[in-house]
Amino acid sequence: RQHTMSLAEHAQRVVAEFDFDQNAVQKSVDEFLREMDEGLQNEGTELSQIPTYVTAVPNGTEKGLYMAVDLGGTNFRVCSVNLHGNSTFTLTQSKTPIPHDLMVAKTSKELFSFLAKQIEAFLKEHHEDHYFSHIKRRNTGETQDQEIFSLGFTFSFPVNQVGINKGMLMRWTKGFDIHDTVGKDVCALLQKEIDALHLPVKVAALVNDTVGTLMARSYTSPGKSHALLGAIFGTGTNGAYVEKLSKVTKLVSSTAKAGTYDDSTGEMIINTEWGSFDNKLRTLPNTPYDTTLDKDSNNPGIQMFEKRISGMYLGELFRLAVVSLIHDPNTPFTSSETGPTGSESKTTTRIPATSPVFKQWGIDTSFLSLCASDTSASLNLIRESLASDLQIPDVSPEDARALQAIAGAVVRRAARLSAVAIGAIVLNSGRLDEGEQDVDIGVDGSLVEFYPDFEGLVREALRGVKGIGEREKRVRIGIAKDGSGVGAALIALVAAGRA
Ligand code: ADP
Repeated sequence: RQHTMSLAEHAQRVVAEFDFDQNAVQKSVDEFLREMDEGLQNEGTELSQIPTYVTAVPNGTEKGLYMAVDLGGTNFRVCSVNLHGNSTFTLTQSKTPIPHDLMVAKTSKELFSFLAKQIEAFLKEHHEDHYFSHIKRRNTGETQDQEIFSLGFTFSFPVNQVGINKGMLMRWTKGFDIHDTVGKDVCALLQKEIDALHLPVKVAALVNDTVGTLMARSYTSPGKSHALLGAIFGTGTNGAYVEKLSKVTKLVSSTAKAGTYDDSTGEMIINTEWGSFDNKLRTLPNTPYDTTLDKDSNNPGIQMFEKRISGMYLGELFRLAVVSLIHDPNTPFTSSETGPTGSESKTTTRIPATSPVFKQWGIDTSFLSLCASDTSASLNLIRESLASDLQIPDVSPEDARALQAIAGAVVRRAARLSAVAIGAIVLNSGRLDEGEQDVDIGVDGSLVEFYPDFEGLVREALRGVKGIGEREKRVRIGIAKDGSGVGAALIALVAAGRA
């Protein structure tokens, strides 16, 4: 007679597969520190450690009116940001979908002239006085520098940045494909079209969204302390942090790049591109579900850290784990039915072949947040969502509990991996050893914003890291909203200030 294990018993095994214990966290932190150093010295390393040419972070006293634009995917956003100089700001914004034919246009000019036209429309609508007084003066031959808006350009594609407002596109991603842009300086392309329209705008800075998050947090965080790290936990994951300039030896030794940045602060913000930390899996956990996810992805073998942490992947990891249980003939989903005699009998739930649970990417990471937020005894939220979103009806409370445990294990591991990056960067800074100051971190992205107590899970792992321990309390983590707007404006300010 075959013994049939319950789903709960099998779930326990899967939960254990997602363990990433304190010892493993520590090994990974050590590896992260090693890769950080390696990336500061050499090109082509796992952590890219890209110099951003931003050499100062704000303290909340910055003032003035700046512009920011964001080209990231489906929308182009234009905004103006009024920094009040007291850690607060007001932001005016417009958002336009990018026509598909421009994403795959024949020439860069078609896309970039469209972007410049959006900036023109924004100025006419929201800064009419400014716009027209500039036009009038220009016609009378007067020019006044203070009338020129400094603009921060958030451009979320891989660029080889060689100056604060200079960077060559390496390749398009996310559905864009315009041949002649590759290898060109995207700031110059935008400036050319802005100038063709005679707009009072100077592209002052090229910005990565993680750097924007760091700047935004540093400006708005209480206590005027300089933030250390800006981190994204959204579709992808990445972080940018403040590094000692003297440690960025690959930059200092490059004569071609010398003199293109202000080195008076002795610091520079580094974009780690940590999504590709430990691609060789020296220390990262690797379940059968991780292996399948990677094999079936469009970039196998790369972004291995990101594939265990970010919103794009966690729902899929959970799905793969659940499918492995469904396909195991010994683990039937059970549902409770009350028989005609009043006795309870268990039957196997049939899951239709059309259920999203059988489709790649069929389960969104927001489902994992829903699982964590269901505190009801009978897990009604989860069971309703299983029925309506995943076509799995009549799941018993005990099976829903088993699925909840698996979902929790996937995210718990992700949070502990996030703590590896955060912990290593905190340790590398030495700031916990300097007095009693808090170490400030700005974060953004749906996972950290909406998953119940993601931060608590990160902290639990941080406490176990050698050199952090109880001092985890001095690590302050705060959501930095509007990073791409305020952050880019702040970088434009820094850039304009030294121009
Ligand atoms: P982006 O990173 O693209 O700027 P977001 O920060 O909103 O945008 O991240 C989107 C990602 O977050 C998607 O992968 C999505 O699956 C995931 N996500 C959306 N809502 C939630 C939620 N409530 N809980 C956890 N993850 C979520």
